[in-house]
Amino acid sequence: MNWDGEVKVVANGTRVPLVSGMRTDAARHNDTLWLKLKRKIKPVVIAGPCSVENEEQILQLAHEVKQAGATMLRGGAFKPRTSPYDFCGLGEEALKYLHHAKQLTGLPVVSEVMSAAQVEQALPYIDVLQIGTRNMSNYELLKEVGRTDKVVMLKRGMSATIDELLQAAEYILLEGNDRVVLCERGIRTYETSTRNTLDLSCVPILKALCDFPIIVDPSHGTGRRDLIRPMSRAAIACGADGVMIETHCDPKHSISDAAQAITPEMLKDIIVDMNTIAEALAERDSVNEPAHTLCNSASSR
Ligand code: PEP
Ligand code: MN
Repeated sequence: MNWDGEVKVVANGTRVPLVSGMRTDAARHNDTLWLKLKRKIKPVVIAGPCSVENEEQILQLAHEVKQAGATMLRGGAFKPRTSPYDFCGLGEEALKYLHHAKQLTGLPVVSEVMSAAQVEQALPYIDVLQIGTRNMSNYELLKEVGRTDKVVMLKRGMSATIDELLQAAEYILLEGNDRVVLCERGIRTYETSTRNTLDLSCVPILKALCDFPIIVDPSHGTGRRDLIRPMSRAAIACGADGVMIETHCDPKHSISDAAQAITPEMLKDIIVDMNTIAEALAERDSVNEPAHTLCNSASSR
């Protein structure tokens, strides 16, 4: 933690005692999944389709994203869709396919849950339970995942402040689960060139306020495949532990979020970029203070 004294407040003065007093990584040294989520030098890369569409698709993608250098596989089984007439996911069938993909590739799997019943269904198959932007403030769901022993990736609500995100994390910690990963996935602004506005400034701010791994999702953050590469580079440069990128073997025909999906080949190039940036900065940060450390600026507020 970067807090010096007992003052455990975030930017607006809200108390989040558990978030700001998280146990150190030393306490988690045997937790291999958790350690995978904390960037050493190479960034964490979670890749896979928006939705699991069928078994063949997810198995092929799992192999291809692994080949490209991804460290985890994502895939939506329960899809929160703006229109109830859109594809809402294959449900438990998709969870089984994800699990199969994990067995074949060794990649831990990440998938979203939207209700207590879905948490139950996902437990045998999924390594990281994702709470999506629409449910960041679903406090009963946060408590539910807080009672599991799974890593929880909590995505920032599309209209949530950093304070609100940290307080949502506090709900999970209060139930006893402190393996929380935070994900910046863009917030709603008046800008129409992008689906959301990716708020990369939240990365160094969060790094100064808590010890959670921070993942950036440039796919939902921009909604545009042409912006995935520059925003992924930027995410690593500003100190994110990693990225989550929607990847599809045939992006244009992705059943959901086709406009933001990239191919495994594109992913491979982006991973090379991110590793290059991470290595260059690690070298500089070993002699200088890490650029993503806010020093006194955040804690003196
Ligand atoms: C997703 O990651 O599949 C997703 C739906 O993201 P978000 O909740 O950020 O929209
Ligand atoms: Mn999506």
